[in-house]
Amino acid sequence: MSGLQLYLAGGGEAALQGAYELGRRTIANGLGALEMLAIHQQCVALVCRDARTAQEVARIVEQSSDFLAESLSSIEMALRGFRETNARLSRNVEELRSAHQALEAEQRRYRDLFDSAPDGYLVTDLEGVIEEANLAAETLLGVSSESLNGTRLLRWVAEDEHAAFESRLKQLLREDADRSRDWEFHLQPQYGVCFPATLGVRVVRTSTGHPASLRLLLRDVTERKRIEEERAQMVLRERVAQTQWEAAQRSAFLAEVSALLVASLDSEAAMRNVAKKLVPYLGDSCLVYLVEGENRIRLLCCARTDRVCEDRGGRFSQEPIVIPPQSLIHCVLAKGEVEVFSPLSQGTRETHPGEIPELAGFFEEEGLASAMLTPIQIHGRAQGLIVLGAAQPDYYDRDLVVLAGDLAHRCALALDNAQLYRAMAAERDKASEANRAKDEFLGILGHELRNPLVPILGWARNLRKNRAILEDKTLSQGVGAIERNSLNILRLADDCLDLVRISERKVALERNLVDLNEIVRGSLDALRQVAVEKGLEIGSRLWPSSLWVMGDRTRLEQVMNNLLMNAMKYTASGGGISVSSTNIDDAVEIEIKDTGIGIAPEFLEQVFQPFRRGNWEWSTPDASLGLGLAIARKIVELHGGTIWAESPGLGGGSTFHVRLSAAQAVIAAPHSSETSRERRAEANPLRILLVDDQQDITDLIKIELESLGYSVMTAPDGQRGFDAAMRCFPDVIISDLKLPVIDGFELIRKIRAIPSMDSIPVIALTGLGTKKHLEAAMAAGFDAHLNKPAEISDLSDLVQALTAQRRTAL
Ligand code: ADP
Repeated sequence: MSGLQLYLAGGGEAALQGAYELGRRTIANGLGALEMLAIHQQCVALVCRDARTAQEVARIVEQSSDFLAESLSSIEMALRGFRETNARLSRNVEELRSAHQALEAEQRRYRDLFDSAPDGYLVTDLEGVIEEANLAAETLLGVSSESLNGTRLLRWVAEDEHAAFESRLKQLLREDADRSRDWEFHLQPQYGVCFPATLGVRVVRTSTGHPASLRLLLRDVTERKRIEEERAQMVLRERVAQTQWEAAQRSAFLAEVSALLVASLDSEAAMRNVAKKLVPYLGDSCLVYLVEGENRIRLLCCARTDRVCEDRGGRFSQEPIVIPPQSLIHCVLAKGEVEVFSPLSQGTRETHPGEIPELAGFFEEEGLASAMLTPIQIHGRAQGLIVLGAAQPDYYDRDLVVLAGDLAHRCALALDNAQLYRAMAAERDKASEANRAKDEFLGILGHELRNPLVPILGWARNLRKNRAILEDKTLSQGVGAIERNSLNILRLADDCLDLVRISERKVALERNLVDLNEIVRGSLDALRQVAVEKGLEIGSRLWPSSLWVMGDRTRLEQVMNNLLMNAMKYTASGGGISVSSTNIDDAVEIEIKDTGIGIAPEFLEQVFQPFRRGNWEWSTPDASLGLGLAIARKIVELHGGTIWAESPGLGGGSTFHVRLSAAQAVIAAPHSSETSRERRAEANPLRILLVDDQQDITDLIKIELESLGYSVMTAPDGQRGFDAAMRCFPDVIISDLKLPVIDGFELIRKIRAIPSMDSIPVIALTGLGTKKHLEAAMAAGFDAHLNKPAEISDLSDLVQALTAQRRTAL
């Protein structure tokens, strides 16, 4: 109002300025143009009230309009400002909108990235309570992010690792670092199995540096673990393969060494060869010493790379040297342990006072930086020493020490074995010498027993047929006793001789096709009567067809008879014996079973040993020396077969088995056993010259041959035998080999030298029934050979056969 009055009063420019200011204040006070207009009109009306004229009113109205226009100009100014601000704001809004859109896009991108990240990503508070989880985390833990949010991460950690997890979390928050090394825990998803995971944890801090939240990166490392495991396995396998290869190398080396050690019984030669092998495998140089007596060693050999030098007369003495006390060698041999040292750095001489000087020199000259002393020791006894050296420092590691120990042990064994072998060989020589002496003694005994027995037996047999004796009961009984007992002793002597001959392989076995069933039947037939007389039940169950073997009929009969006789001998009256034969694959077997006294288990092993007899209470007057089974076994073994006994023990009966290889051929060989045993000499008696220095024998054979119709002349020595032959030209000559003046061999040579007598059959009749004698006799010109005392029927058969042969030849 005052501003208007001032303007109307002609205030000029200042009043106009006041009008403008008035308008500005009005806007500033928040009044709009209409309100201003209303106030202006009120003010104009008030001013006009004081106007006195219409012109004055008109002037007031006109000037008031100018005043109003001036006041309104600030509004216009403000409007213009508004417009401009508006335009600017619009631009800002536009900018904000596009910024917002960019932010949204960024957020989406972040979410996409967050969700499509291959690893689980979690945002948690400092307690580990999940606030945000990406898709991968949902998948890993098997629950939606809604379910995850709000749970503690601990809930998803395997239960037995809860404590560890908690402590890691606490420790992380205590530390200053934002990030720690990845944690490794097992996570337990909602469903499914626990899996190993790594957790990369980062602490997010406020601007003031306080921990605000955690970011966790979860990664399933099952596959990585599997690969790591596989890799570890592979590494392990490679290491195992490497170890195995090394072990194989070592074994091969040891095997080679062992082969060298056993290749020769000359242990020193073997050790020299071993020394060659030791370089370069175990070093560059090697010395091998052998212990010689107390505190002395002797150099055996020295090897460098692959040459062995005996070093005779060289640097090393071959003479035994005394081991200095306190020396390293002394310690090694005393302790029996491998010693590794460095000769260059320690200076062996100084370090080990009293060391063998040449050994120290050896290390120096060879430039050996590593050395190993290995004792060769067994049963706490030092036998030698292997000194190995290598140019490379610290060459001898644990493996080589073990290897050297093993090697030395083998050397020790070989040396020990060689010593044992030498001792054993000496013992064996002694034993075989004793055995030979025993055999010789048995042979002589048998022979010397036989010689007087043959005439005793012969005379007893002859006398038994004598009428005067037959009529005298006492004499007849006496002669019978002489015959029986001399037969027993003769059997013993025969057994001794037989065993000796078989042991010395002086028995020539015949190789004929023989039916074992036939042999069994023969023995059964021959001995059945004895069994019946003793009151024994005897039965047989034989293989229905022939059981062919290649063998010596007589010897196999001997075995069978012996087994059957024993069964009868060791079975009491009322007992039973059963014999069976069978064919098993390519073998044939005979079983002789009795219900007799049986065999004690401790004796079962020994029944086949010579001179072993059990059950003395069962000894009968006709009991032998315990040679029957020994002979039987030797015969069976000479046939390539086996014989064995079984018994549950004393009182349980015994079973003996004989097994032989079956012969391929099945065609029965014609058996001509029934020869002309009983054949008597033909009407035209053959003239026989009998040469023997034992009068008793010649007398007996003469009587017996003459009883068969032969004409017999006798001579007591070789020379007189030859003279008799020259005088009467006999049809057959029977001669002993061992004769006085000239022996049987000389006799036959002389006879064969006479053309008219070169085809006379000459039979050697001797107690020297060895293969050597037999061959010598045949080679000297004898036609046949018979052992004393020969059955007279056998002698007669032979005489007949030889003369028939001669006749055919002539
Ligand atoms: P001998 O019968 O002459 O003593 P052997 O060599 O034939 O000699 O037998 C040796 C030992 O084996 C006999 O002394 C006996 O103790 C035992 N023996 C052999 N055969 C039988 C058997 N059938 N039953 C029980 N013991 C037996």
